[in-house]
Amino acid sequence: MTPTEPPPRIPFVDLAAQSRRLRPEIDRRIGEVLDHGRYVMGPEVGELEAELGRWGAGASAVAVSSGSDALLIALLALGVGRAENRRDAVFVPTFTFTATAEVVLLAGAVPIFVDVREDDFLIDLESLDREYEVLRTAGAATPKAVIPVDLFGLPVAEKPLADWAAARNIEVISDAAQSFGARRDGNPVGSLAPVTTTSFYPAKPLGCYGDGGAVLCVEPATAEVVRSIREHGQSADRYDIVRLGVNGRLDSLQAAVLLAKLTVFEQELAARRAVAAGYSERLRASSSTAMPWRVSAPECAPGVESSWAQYTLRVDDAAGRPSAETRDGLRAHLDRAGIPTAVYYPRPMHLQPAYERYGRGAGSLPVSESLADRVVSLPMHPYLDQDALDRICERIANP
Ligand SMILES: *Cc1c(COP(=O)(O)O)cnc(C)c1O
Repeated sequence: MTPTEPPPRIPFVDLAAQSRRLRPEIDRRIGEVLDHGRYVMGPEVGELEAELGRWGAGASAVAVSSGSDALLIALLALGVGRAENRRDAVFVPTFTFTATAEVVLLAGAVPIFVDVREDDFLIDLESLDREYEVLRTAGAATPKAVIPVDLFGLPVAEKPLADWAAARNIEVISDAAQSFGARRDGNPVGSLAPVTTTSFYPAKPLGCYGDGGAVLCVEPATAEVVRSIREHGQSADRYDIVRLGVNGRLDSLQAAVLLAKLTVFEQELAARRAVAAGYSERLRASSSTAMPWRVSAPECAPGVESSWAQYTLRVDDAAGRPSAETRDGLRAHLDRAGIPTAVYYPRPMHLQPAYERYGRGAGSLPVSESLADRVVSLPMHPYLDQDALDRICERIANP
């Protein structure tokens, strides 16, 4: 008897399948850059910005060097930071990637960590308001901005947050690193907040072949400031430095790759939605009381189109209690069957050594702390086929 071959490992993100599909167009675009030789601020950058602006329903888009730099530049453009006798405070969800918190400190402001909601992982307005009141009574820093994060690709509902912020004279910068291409009631990311930042890191829904990002501004005047900060704070005259800036440009080569990828982006978003629907259907159909874990699938409210950067489950034990052991057990069980998973994020920012002095420690933001023990993200990309979906969901249902 010959032992049966183990099935091939399923890729968590399949960039190879995408590059096979797009290779001729990517080669052509890269060839053009090599031909004209304008590697920095070549014509592809402007072309890309026009495309991104269209995706953002007419927003002014500025291509930059990464999603992290996009956030930093946005904060600088809005004047968030510190002055002689004042330090600004910026509210950020604690359940996020480190960049959201890091840029606040780099800009000279202090991060104020806020809890997220259990069901959709997005910033919790009640927690935000509580932290605002704590800050106001303590009076240590001036509340200046909030950075809602569209975690896993789901855009934050902009209206309640915009109203809350406007009433307190607080700026909103949307961290849409994971949600470019998502929509709410037909309105695309880029048009949902005055200033939106995104990332083109390879594994994001729209990724380049290196680092990249963009800032999208509803007001063209804000975009002009962003443009200036992206290039050392220059004015129209290159040697006229009118404000503090950075080197935050996107390479022409990365813009070329993104232009090629944009030709199929809408199709890829539809494919991601189909994968998410396929997961949810199968998980519903196969869930049984014999399973040692109970999984809750992510949901999209009517009118909301996630970009499905990640498909993230909440895992509890059979009795429905939070249990990191159960989550880790499910991960090991999947890994043994050639199914990779990831945990975004295993530790909330207010408990990270680099940031804990800005928070109130364990127990202060309980939903995020609990989610860190319970979430698991399954393979998600536009080229995940039905067989792979079957295999993953059967494995979850059969311990
Ligand atoms: C990826 C990511 C960033 C940073 O983007 P980079 O391009 O890697 O700098 C910021 N915020 C969130 C939520 C992210 O997922």
